[in-house]
Amino acid sequence: MDTSAFVKLSYLVAAALFILGLKNMAHPRTAVRGNMLGAAGMFLAVIVTLMTLEQFGFIAVAALVGAVIGLVLAQRIPMTEMPQLVALCNGFGGIASTLVAGAEFLRMEAETPDVLIATAVSAVIGTVTFWGSFVAFGKLQGLKAFSKNWAFPGQQAINALLLLTLIVLTAWMVSQQTVAALIAIVIVASILGFLLVTPIGGADMPVVIALLNSYSGLAAAATGFVIDNNVLIIAGSLVGASGVILTQIMCKAMNRSLTNVLFGGIDASSVAGDADEIYATVRSTSPDDVAMILENAQRVVIVPGYGMAVAQAQHAVREMADLLGKNGTDVVYAIHPVAGRMPGHMNVLLAEADVPYDKLKEMDEINPTMVTADVAIVIGANDVVNPVARTDPKSPIAGMPIIDVDKARTVIVIKRSLSPGFAGIPNPLFAAENSLMLFGDGKQALLEIVAALKEA
Ligand code: NDP
Repeated sequence: MDTSAFVKLSYLVAAALFILGLKNMAHPRTAVRGNMLGAAGMFLAVIVTLMTLEQFGFIAVAALVGAVIGLVLAQRIPMTEMPQLVALCNGFGGIASTLVAGAEFLRMEAETPDVLIATAVSAVIGTVTFWGSFVAFGKLQGLKAFSKNWAFPGQQAINALLLLTLIVLTAWMVSQQTVAALIAIVIVASILGFLLVTPIGGADMPVVIALLNSYSGLAAAATGFVIDNNVLIIAGSLVGASGVILTQIMCKAMNRSLTNVLFGGIDASSVAGDADEIYATVRSTSPDDVAMILENAQRVVIVPGYGMAVAQAQHAVREMADLLGKNGTDVVYAIHPVAGRMPGHMNVLLAEADVPYDKLKEMDEINPTMVTADVAIVIGANDVVNPVARTDPKSPIAGMPIIDVDKARTVIVIKRSLSPGFAGIPNPLFAAENSLMLFGDGKQALLEIVAALKEA
């Protein structure tokens, strides 16, 4: 077999591994295998590509440095900061595409328009992805500069103007093949990437993260055309397509259209409401009292949220559920699609604690049965159980379907204080007639409930 046939065959195997990997990732039970298959495909693609190069010493050193940084980051990063890491990785993917396409452009002699257009597309999408992901990282990290509302009048018009400028610059680059045009494209795309994501906030971040993920794939696919590498085109298209599907799922979960998320703009401050007034009737409870309520319950629904991730309370949740199960109580978990800070966040945590998959119920499945729940325990969730989404059309989360915990006979909310969630708005659920607040760290509170259950 000659080298070119070997390379093509290897790329085909790598592409098949990517597709199999994605298929396996569709279910928690097979997700780890899916991840391994995808990684194996990428490893094969990288090794075979390196073999096609005349000299790769420099790339091998860079890959080694990158691998060490990646390993250290993956080991050190706490689970709660994983979403930020994912945002950064999307951004690095974007800038890598821009750099590769740019480097290739510098080497090009007289090139055909299709390759030049692909170079410009890669530079635009890659750069927008980089700056957009950078802003998303800042928002997820809770950096003050990024968390405030950056929207200003006429912002959409400016974005449209920037887009138009990019089209003109692309035409300039294609007709003149000049580096100045590429540099101008990168500068304008940087401003666009920044402006596109800064005004997005409230509960809309999951959509943006899925979209940026898709962009990073599209940029890679465009770069694949520039350097004529089939496996990059395939891998980029798969990431682009799966990102679009995820974006759609997130939009559906929030009952928002993509245009509404991207161009709607939100001013949480004007609709936040007076927290003191809303929380005037809040009642708090103790672990012993919660244990007593739970002992008498026939059906308990556990609703985890971002606070469960912060507290790393998943094992304690499982221990409490096991004790209740032994007592004859029917215990299930209600999973909101945007709970936590990344898609599938709650599923990953609960799988880590070996919670059986058949106990995890999706929002659409659990909501019609909420009226039959004796107790709903909300652990570190806030926005995804905020009834304001149903009642206040001006709220940043208006129209977002929520887990209807307020319909349960008793609601127990475990969190440290009355602080708001990611959307930054008060939650009247905490002051509802059937609600009791158990203030404290999620894990600590659950361990105290477990101790009280064991004593009883
Ligand atoms: P929220 O962000 O609405 O609320 C989390 C709550 O957890 C806070 O109110 C906090 O209250 C509490 N908390 C924090 N630490 C602890 C702790 N140690 N123990 C107990 N409680 C704790 O979380 P939800 O999961 O309800 O909602 C997710 C939000 O994040 C949505 O708005 C969603 O749009 C957004 N988002 C989701 C992404 C995704 O992909 N899933 C990505 C980006 C954003 P207190 O400080 O009082 O303890």
